[in-house]
Amino acid sequence: MLFRSLNIIDPILKAVEEEGYSTPTPIQAEAIPIVLQGTDLLGCAQTGTGKTAAFAIPILQLLSANKFFGKNKKIRSLIVTPTRELAIQIEESFRAYGRHTGLTCTVLFGGVNQKPQTAALQKGVDILVATPGRLLDLMNQGFLTLRDVEIFVLDEADRMLDMGFIHDVKKLLAALPKNRQTLFFSATMPPEIVKLANSILHNPIKVSVTPDSSTVEIIQQSLFFVDKGNKSALLLEILKNPQIKTALVFTRTKHGANIVVKTLLKHDISAEAIHGNKAQSARQRALSNFKDQSTRILVATDIAARGIDVDDLQYVINYEIPNIPETYVHRIGRTGRAGAEGTAYSFCDAEEKEYIRDIEKLIGKKIPVAENPLFPLMIHNPVKTPKQQQGRGNSGHSRPNQVASNRTVIPANKNPKILFSRQRS
Ligand code: AMP
Repeated sequence: MLFRSLNIIDPILKAVEEEGYSTPTPIQAEAIPIVLQGTDLLGCAQTGTGKTAAFAIPILQLLSANKFFGKNKKIRSLIVTPTRELAIQIEESFRAYGRHTGLTCTVLFGGVNQKPQTAALQKGVDILVATPGRLLDLMNQGFLTLRDVEIFVLDEADRMLDMGFIHDVKKLLAALPKNRQTLFFSATMPPEIVKLANSILHNPIKVSVTPDSSTVEIIQQSLFFVDKGNKSALLLEILKNPQIKTALVFTRTKHGANIVVKTLLKHDISAEAIHGNKAQSARQRALSNFKDQSTRILVATDIAARGIDVDDLQYVINYEIPNIPETYVHRIGRTGRAGAEGTAYSFCDAEEKEYIRDIEKLIGKKIPVAENPLFPLMIHNPVKTPKQQQGRGNSGHSRPNQVASNRTVIPANKNPKILFSRQRS
């Protein structure tokens, strides 16, 4: 199928082609016709599936049918998303796909001076992309009204709830006109999300893509069993591979991210951290340095990295294994985007083995174990977590080799992407 066959108007089609896309992704092929016909949509999809264009393209088309100019401009579409990074990327997509439509767009997020944002609003915009806090703040200050919104998008609803935005979302809903089209996206559909969706959608059509398994399938995944204390040494060893031009490294905590950056800098590897403690400008700078490859390694925590969209990102390294299995899929989904190749390495210490078991259950396969002759797992008796003491997970006595014996082990020399250039003395 081609975009041409989706009845997209020429100015948008031209922009999509200029972006280099000719074939819609599954969520685009399904969602675009539904949105164009004016129906509410419940989309079960995560970032990395092309979902932004799945709503941006039809919204631009619907608004193009009836344009307003100058002082008559009003906010006709509102997209609310949980993080600043996502908001910025969504606005960039609207600008890209809408560049020949004459429609205008702006983005609001907190942590920065509000003046440029209010100035942009005062000029008049058709499409507003925002994080909930700053949006409500500017609304309360009287800089904007949502009464003219025709199409409302709630993006990453599950993450929005996770981040505690439910009350903000409810306040926004109260300020929106009842008569509107609503598009609701969430990567997962736990009961509270279904309840929220039911309360705000009107006869929606459900579209679900299964990026999790498809993303996972095209990404080459390797698992390294390694002691916690040797993770930084293993990282440095892996980064000796010159094929790794850039890599996104995940840690569980902000503190952990800072420590990894410090270690890398000490070894002359350019690295920056991106997490919630950093000022918005510092996060943006780190992201753009990473995108243009002037920084080789970006170290991120999960919330900060959600939605990071870097073309050609080939390597994701899980320095720490996430305790929520879906997070693993979100993390590795930063690479292998839209069908591109990707590699994900995961460093697993004794305490994290139970997390790997949960992840493997979710993705429905064993992650191949990489040979790790330099820094093999030596400490097999982790301090028991309360979870383990309740009888869940690792007994603390299994040897890594036993774990590895029923897995596919990739010999180091068979995996060209893993280079071990020296022996441990
Ligand atoms: P998203 O899920 O919206 O974050 O998009 C994921 C990535 O896929 C982004 O880098 C998009 O630029 C890219 N993308 C979106 N639509 C297409 C398409 N039809 N073909 C190829 N790549 C696409």
